[in-house]
Amino acid sequence: MPRVFSGIQPTGAPHIGNYFGAMQNYVTLGEQFGKNSLYCVVDLHAITNPAASDPRELAGRTFDMAVANFAAGLDPAKVVFFAQSHVPEHQELSWVFTCLTPVGELERMTQYKDKAAQYESVPSGLLMYPVLMAADILLYKADTVPVGDDQTQHIELTREIARKFNHHYGETFPEPKAVYSQGAVRVPGVDGHGKMSKSKGEASTIGILEPLGSIWQKLRAAPTDPQRVRRTDPGNPEVCLIFDYHKLFSDLDTIQLVDVGCRTAGIGCVDCKKKLMEGVTAHLEPLQERAEGLRADPDYVRDALRQGAQEARAIAAPIMDEVRHKVGFLKL
Ligand code: ATP
Ligand code: MG
Repeated sequence: MPRVFSGIQPTGAPHIGNYFGAMQNYVTLGEQFGKNSLYCVVDLHAITNPAASDPRELAGRTFDMAVANFAAGLDPAKVVFFAQSHVPEHQELSWVFTCLTPVGELERMTQYKDKAAQYESVPSGLLMYPVLMAADILLYKADTVPVGDDQTQHIELTREIARKFNHHYGETFPEPKAVYSQGAVRVPGVDGHGKMSKSKGEASTIGILEPLGSIWQKLRAAPTDPQRVRRTDPGNPEVCLIFDYHKLFSDLDTIQLVDVGCRTAGIGCVDCKKKLMEGVTAHLEPLQERAEGLRADPDYVRDALRQGAQEARAIAAPIMDEVRHKVGFLKL
């Protein structure tokens, strides 16, 4: 049976890119593979980002990320859901992989280059990020990784690290494959500047737990087809991020209606955004109500994380023993 692993960083509030790109697949694969699917709030990864490392906020964001995933339909009793720092074996395996990975391979990672460009002093943890990610996945010998396509390069490196370990120390790890969601591999930011990202801040994101009034303010201000200056100008939905969002939130009839309406100037951008907001509300309102219920029961969330960490460690322990033995560490 396949084993599934994926991680999400508590670097900010989860957004519709995380939701459609990854979290929905967690739920689908979780229903298929039960306790063979592991999902992790990767707080060790989060502290590679100096802006998201405030110790007064990290624990709360980790908790909120669990709430968001449970509200989105992931049942912690059916899958393994935990926080990365509660399973120290992630760091132990990461070190072994660090010693197998050339610095040059890490320096050419696109995500590293993009993120490092934002800092004057780059934490070396940021360079090691993909090695830790390889350890996250391979610690459970997972072969199936639901992610957005911004992680393609990191999954390829994970496969390389698995190959290298197997070559040096004997056949041990599978070469995992990414699984992408249909139609949401890279959701654009609502500010119109590239991928929606938690770390780019609130201006880029539509949070799945964000108040609906605040979401509407962002949609209202969002850029549309720049060629469509007047209401009477025909527009091109293919270059409009509002149309991208319609494909995520609206039913087929609405998508067709705004598609034709935009091309023929039959619908204005504000009305098109209002139609989108109807889909957003229908989708997110029940999810937000479930999140409220979960926040009111923090013991449930904490117990679920405690239980998840125990289940994860039970899977990781024999694999880590095998690694220690193969690497040649003295066993007493
Ligand atoms: P950060 O800016 O801190 O890196 P992020 O928004 O990129 O945060 P991550 O926690 O890094 O979110 O990623 C969690 C999952 O969400 C990953 O599987 C990632 O591929 C996916 N993901 C992130 N952003 C998008 C997006 N805009 N579209 C589709 N999937 C996305
Ligand atoms: Mg990211």
